[in-house]
Amino acid sequence: MKYTTIIGLEIHLQISTRTKAFCSCENGFGKEPNTSVCPVCLGMPGSLPVLNRQYLYRAVKTALALNCEVARRMKFDRKNYFYPDLPKNYQISQYDMPLSQNGFLEIMTTGGIKKIGITRAHMEEDAGKLIHDEGGSSSFIDLNRAGTPLLEIVSEPDISSPDEAYTYLKTLKSVLEYLDVSDCNMEEGSLRCDANISLMPAGEKGLGTKVELKNMNSFKAIRQGLEYEQDRQAKILSSGGVIVQQTRLWNEKKKITELMRTKEEAHDYRYFPDPDLNDFIIERDTVLMLKKSLPEMPRAKMNRFVKEYNLSEYDACLLTSDRRMADFMEESVKLYPKPKVIANWLTGGVQAYLNEHNCRFSQIAINAGMFVDMIRLIDSKLISNNMAKDVLEEMISSGVPAKDIVKKKGFLQITDKTAIESIAADVLQSNPKVKEDYLSGKKNALGFLIGQIMKKSQGKADPVMAGQALKKLLEAGHEGV
Ligand SMILES: [Zn+2]
Repeated sequence: MKYTTIIGLEIHLQISTRTKAFCSCENGFGKEPNTSVCPVCLGMPGSLPVLNRQYLYRAVKTALALNCEVARRMKFDRKNYFYPDLPKNYQISQYDMPLSQNGFLEIMTTGGIKKIGITRAHMEEDAGKLIHDEGGSSSFIDLNRAGTPLLEIVSEPDISSPDEAYTYLKTLKSVLEYLDVSDCNMEEGSLRCDANISLMPAGEKGLGTKVELKNMNSFKAIRQGLEYEQDRQAKILSSGGVIVQQTRLWNEKKKITELMRTKEEAHDYRYFPDPDLNDFIIERDTVLMLKKSLPEMPRAKMNRFVKEYNLSEYDACLLTSDRRMADFMEESVKLYPKPKVIANWLTGGVQAYLNEHNCRFSQIAINAGMFVDMIRLIDSKLISNNMAKDVLEEMISSGVPAKDIVKKKGFLQITDKTAIESIAADVLQSNPKVKEDYLSGKKNALGFLIGQIMKKSQGKADPVMAGQALKKLLEAGHEGV
């Protein structure tokens, strides 16, 4: 039996601000435990929270970039539950009048561009953090994180595979990086993701029983967790079983999901309006001002790259998914107006380097000037494409300019016609059989002969010129017969 997979994602994003959501405590990671706390973020009686303007502005910008409608009037609610890392027993959140709703994010899938709905993006504060003793006998509480500004971004169940979930997250992260509203660091908890997944027999409408997945600490883990859960549910359904609504945790070591709690135990939050933070009017002028301040978003930049630089959607998407790489592309084109060649080297050689060394564009030491100098060497035929791959790799890892690497390695392409013709003559002489094959009509024998010239010249011959030289000699020889 075939099943349709339905996935919805919930992202908790820490917004980078100077101070916390509702007080003037410093907002930052890695400080001595319990040193960045005050009566307001601990919810002590008599303390009054005040909404941080920077938090509001950054949240509005994010909502706008996700094509959401920003509310004219919003309010904050208290979400009541008891947990050791929440000393005041409630979390300030938004329930029925959130900051924003009804947005979407476009993602690039194998089937083309797909719109994933954003149900809402609302503001809420983070809770503290429990630290468990190595021996397991005690637990400690660090409340520095309590009151940290969060934006919860909830997607519609429009995602139909673990792969799409991965792409959605990558795309969302790139939007957030363009906005510069969060550092999106998953290891430090700045970006956390929970997923809902259900399966339905293919062709049927409605929603299956959903399982909530938590505890996934990387985009890769999210994809793996969803893949595991998709398989698990399909097996249960195929054998006539029933999916139970529950929350499961991803176990990174065992690569499986494990039961955390079933629905019966799930929290019943009692929300009620926060009397200290009720009803905020978000002025349209402010929204307009923030809208104007948005940078060009990845999707818009992608479309512009396609149009202005005549690139494929795929290449443009790859280049613009990383803001630094997109900026680098534009800088390089300014220095050397050959966008297609530059894009090919960025999506080819440079991207291969990033994948191989598992790093990001911002982490490599290369500037546009050095990069286009290397491309100039290729275009002026001083080095071949093949040599350039080695030169590029060394240039990225050492920061040494391409010219110096070429000089040091003796990497200069042979473009001297007479020199290449002399090698070609040698090659023909030592391969009489192949020569005959070519002359009797097997035109692909030429490739082998070019290969021999490249080998003999230690890769330094210009392959186009090698081909021309061979043809010239072969045709001359043929006429002579
Ligand atoms: Zn505080």
